[in-house]
Amino acid sequence: MDFLKRLGLEADNAGTTTGNKTMFTKSATRIESHSPIDGKLIGAVYSTTKEEYETVVNTAAEAFKTWRKMPAPQRGEIIRQIGDALREHKEDLGKLVSLEMGKIYQEGLGEVQEMIDICDFAVGLSRQLYGLTMHSERPDHRMYEQYHPLGIVGVISAFNFPVAVWSWNAMIAAVCGDTIIWKPSEKTPLCAVACQNIIKDVLAKNDLPEGIFCMINGDREVGEWMTSDKRVPLISATGSIRMGKQVAQVVAARLGKTLLELGGNNAIIISPQADIEMAVRATVFGAVGTAGQRCTSTRRLIVHESIFDQVKDRLVSIYKNIAIGSPLEEGTLVGPLIDKQAVDMMQSALESLKDAGGELVYGGEVLQGGVYDSGTYVRPAICIAENHYQIVQDETFAPILYLIRYREMEEAMEYHNGVVQGLSSAIFTLNLREAEQFLSHAGSDCGIANVNIGTSGAEIGGAFGGEKETGGGRESGSDSWKIYMRRQTNTINWGSSLPLAQGIRFDV
Ligand code: NAD
Repeated sequence: MDFLKRLGLEADNAGTTTGNKTMFTKSATRIESHSPIDGKLIGAVYSTTKEEYETVVNTAAEAFKTWRKMPAPQRGEIIRQIGDALREHKEDLGKLVSLEMGKIYQEGLGEVQEMIDICDFAVGLSRQLYGLTMHSERPDHRMYEQYHPLGIVGVISAFNFPVAVWSWNAMIAAVCGDTIIWKPSEKTPLCAVACQNIIKDVLAKNDLPEGIFCMINGDREVGEWMTSDKRVPLISATGSIRMGKQVAQVVAARLGKTLLELGGNNAIIISPQADIEMAVRATVFGAVGTAGQRCTSTRRLIVHESIFDQVKDRLVSIYKNIAIGSPLEEGTLVGPLIDKQAVDMMQSALESLKDAGGELVYGGEVLQGGVYDSGTYVRPAICIAENHYQIVQDETFAPILYLIRYREMEEAMEYHNGVVQGLSSAIFTLNLREAEQFLSHAGSDCGIANVNIGTSGAEIGGAFGGEKETGGGRESGSDSWKIYMRRQTNTINWGSSLPLAQGIRFDV
């Protein structure tokens, strides 16, 4: 396939790079990447060896000494060029995302657009890494704070956003003066290799040292080399809650910093005072988009009893017309799940739902024959459930939508917040009081709360992340950059006496 060549991909690819130079140890574990679309082999990468890992960390540490000295706006200029390189490769990279991860091509393009957007954001940010100035309580003193680069930032990413999550972290960290080591998901290694290939020319053209944008590949073990490594002050990890709990403990044991972006269990409340057609359409995008494999996918729909059947019937009629098939085909809205294991997990979730007393209203089956031969395609499911069922409390990374009935808004809010995750949330209502209540301190406990917008599809300008077991991290827009820097408070005495704070007298 020509587009793979244009992205610099071969049948066998080096899994380790310092940005400028690749490392290729054939004896290491070979990670094959099969497309979820048809199970065919796309290519392979070689897992990073311990020796290569050491070289990468040493090179990233060395590069940090040069990179941090470069004025931030000049670093921004490099990111601007990376943004342009991504623009040039948007279609090819979007197609690879679709081929390797299985999301529809439109969403693949959207993911690359998100990378371009974050580059633009980071360029502007490179002139705005502001600290505050305070009034000192002591005469002839000046007090202010400044932000310095942190060092090496380790980025561990999940399969479902195989390129954007890296860029959210890497582009912001880079303008902040940090160097980056990326360990992508072992399920989508080729997307990572392609990104590294795209930026390689920019690094060479600008004569930058090797070690600014590094990549290592491998499974959990390779990730653990980095999480336990004191030379990596910040670990930004995106993935399951299970992974986040492991990473948090390992990094905390060495008193490092973490930025955790973990699982969600996102709900939409539909009030009787909603624009119901709008609510239903937003629900469908949130529940079946990316085949239910977004951290912000809509998993629970909390609907007022007076409109429950109306909403359910409308959803079923839309679900019946959803085109399921190859994500590269025009018109497809739902592609495959990432692998057969994900399909099995969905099937077992539907069994658990029935065991708990819930009802499968529509869909849920594994599709077979023809284009569905890979065994990775499912029909999105609509179920009736109760919020307290264990299976409703857990995040199943598949297109299952649980409909939950409520009578009073207070009850709806209890259901809404009654899960361990706290990522994205939404209410559909045209009633100002209900909307404001949802956004108030007593409302949604999530990191993202929307009114008349679904739970998925955030913009890069805001800080992205969630509360509770979603991990508390914030990345992308707003002031998320601060986590990639160390804050220093400075006080300068330009007078001729030595007054002490709090008026303490200490005469010597
Ligand atoms: P996963 O947890 O299986 O793997 C994520 C990454 O962590 C992979 O690179 C994996 O190799 C690595 N990893 C696993 N255990 C590790 C350990 N102990 N130490 C170091 N690295 C380790 O997740 P997945 O299946 O790839 O992705 C799906 C999950 O990611 C879902 O739960 C989804 O909600 C979540 N997610 C969250 C966000 C967010 O922003 N909150 C975004 C995307 C995905």
